[in-house]
Amino acid sequence: MDLKLIFLELTLFFWITNSNCQDCGLKQKEQGRRYSYYKIHTELNDSTHVIRTIQEIRFKNHTDIPLDNLYFYLYLNSFKNEKSSFLKGANEIFGNPYKDRSDLEWSDLKILKLSVVQNKHSADVLNHSQAVFFDDGNKDDESVLEVCLPTLFLPDDTIILKLEWEARIPKVIARAGYSQDFYLFCHWFPQLGVLEKNTANQWYWNCHQFFRSTEFYGEFSDYDIWIKCNKDFKLCSSGEFIDEIRVGNNLIKHYRAEKLIDFAWAIHKNCYIREWKWKNIQIRLMLPNDYREQEERFVATINFGLQYMSTHLAYYPYNTLSIVCPPLHALRTGLMEYPSLITTGSIFGMPSFIHNAESLIMHEFVHQYFMAVLANNEKEEPWMDEGFATYYEDRIIDALFGDHQSLIHFMGFKMDNKQLTRMEYTGMNNPSEGIIARPAWCFTEETRKAMIYSKTATIFHSLERIIGQVNMDTIMSRYYQCYKFTHPSGKEFMQFVQNQLYQLVDSSKAFSSYKFVKFGIYNEGFMDYTISEVKDSAISDSMHHYSIVVQNKGIWNYPLSVKMIFEDGSNAVEFLNGNISQEVIEVKSTKVLTKLHLDPEQLLLTDLNLNNNTYSIHLSDYASLGFSYKLQYWLQNITHFISFLI
Ligand SMILES: [Zn+2]
Repeated sequence: MDLKLIFLELTLFFWITNSNCQDCGLKQKEQGRRYSYYKIHTELNDSTHVIRTIQEIRFKNHTDIPLDNLYFYLYLNSFKNEKSSFLKGANEIFGNPYKDRSDLEWSDLKILKLSVVQNKHSADVLNHSQAVFFDDGNKDDESVLEVCLPTLFLPDDTIILKLEWEARIPKVIARAGYSQDFYLFCHWFPQLGVLEKNTANQWYWNCHQFFRSTEFYGEFSDYDIWIKCNKDFKLCSSGEFIDEIRVGNNLIKHYRAEKLIDFAWAIHKNCYIREWKWKNIQIRLMLPNDYREQEERFVATINFGLQYMSTHLAYYPYNTLSIVCPPLHALRTGLMEYPSLITTGSIFGMPSFIHNAESLIMHEFVHQYFMAVLANNEKEEPWMDEGFATYYEDRIIDALFGDHQSLIHFMGFKMDNKQLTRMEYTGMNNPSEGIIARPAWCFTEETRKAMIYSKTATIFHSLERIIGQVNMDTIMSRYYQCYKFTHPSGKEFMQFVQNQLYQLVDSSKAFSSYKFVKFGIYNEGFMDYTISEVKDSAISDSMHHYSIVVQNKGIWNYPLSVKMIFEDGSNAVEFLNGNISQEVIEVKSTKVLTKLHLDPEQLLLTDLNLNNNTYSIHLSDYASLGFSYKLQYWLQNITHFISFLI
């Protein structure tokens, strides 16, 4: 064997197993320097839907360069008018028309005072602030504000920003806003962008405008928040409840939170709050009064999810978890994740044989580990959050209600979460359309969920089957521990996975499984293995010579096995390296071959068509007919099922 090749392989092995993990501790320590502190006093006038707020931010320059400006997110300005980058060109938001609203139902955020205290010197900077729109050049978009500083802000110095602002809260739109006696406050306060290094290792503000297809990317911060509103409202928020005082007809509630990338809250009158503890975690569930019959379903699901994630990934990261179930009239505020607060979505009288509400609540719950704690950039690399939220959502729901029936089990129709996720990907018009690892704004409405959520999750379900659940859990829990609170990039994740695979499985499997994942995330192209032809050129009456033609109709591949079943019930397995479009297996046997299974353990859920992985020799026509009936039955049911949910 070539000595140079052996040396190269050894070097690669040591490099892979020793690179990257040692950097994690350092990265977490550095990240600790970044935390800002937000002190916010806000008061809601329910009759005008206006909040008036006094806000203070303490922010340290954690870089090694002087700064002359700051960037803020102003999410509420996305709903100021139809010209914002978020709304421009859209007739509907999440399937809901939004244009038919009065002036007072649009948002309006006004910063009344803005000053900066630098070296004990206070300066008014309101006139030195302006909206910026570097992403799309839309001059009418005001979702990002630049503030120019009067003097250079030096490394390690701390400044205090003092703001007074008021905002009219919009009638519900894109999850924010009010509907009757319910309000959801998400991304509601001016919040600093993320000051980080770019790929050229230069510090810059990562603070993108808000677009329809993007979610949120914020920096870890600590919060003290006082919320004043009418005493008849019940309140659920991120963080821990500290205390409250009554002032006339109002209550002022104080909340505190640490290491959150955002702080959200919701209030509702016609509701109740169920509180309980899971181990040391305080849980609050806000449910509309007429949803009482669903209460125990939510409680059981959340408790199961907390236990499942503790066992398989990590202990829940915060002391509290708030779950807000909006009323039907505010359903469009639901199904979203914020740090230590999730919103779910259900309808009155949701039948117990459909576990859709449980599935949705689990998805948002799992986001606590990915969106909130790992906190990757959801705008630039959304797959790292949504893909894993979907992957664990599938696992939890399938573990809770059983494989093949976890989502629905009714009148002979069964389906599990994982199957639906897979079909969202395999059912795409063009499963090769673009790569997964793209910024959220590069996807269309049609491809966004199927690619980012479903294809990613299906890839990791397949990886789990290839390397085993124990190894998969080891990789993911080490990844979580190593990168929590550090905004890992896709590149860091992939390097970490490669490293772990070489530690946990044999090098051949590590090589091929890593290649499989990398292709799936970073390349276009699909896989569809099929047995296209089986010929028997019998040598004699007692000896058969089978030529089995295996094809991959796509370009994404993985080594796979073929199981041959003979007339007497015996079987044999052949292995294919799978990396060419067509391979022929030659088999000489005295036995009559009756059936073939490609990938018999069904490791490759990413294979677009699993039906053509089975081939019955004498009954092939009948078998194909059977499969097509089965598929038709499935598709019909799925269509009905999905249309029911929408
Ligand atoms: Zn999600």
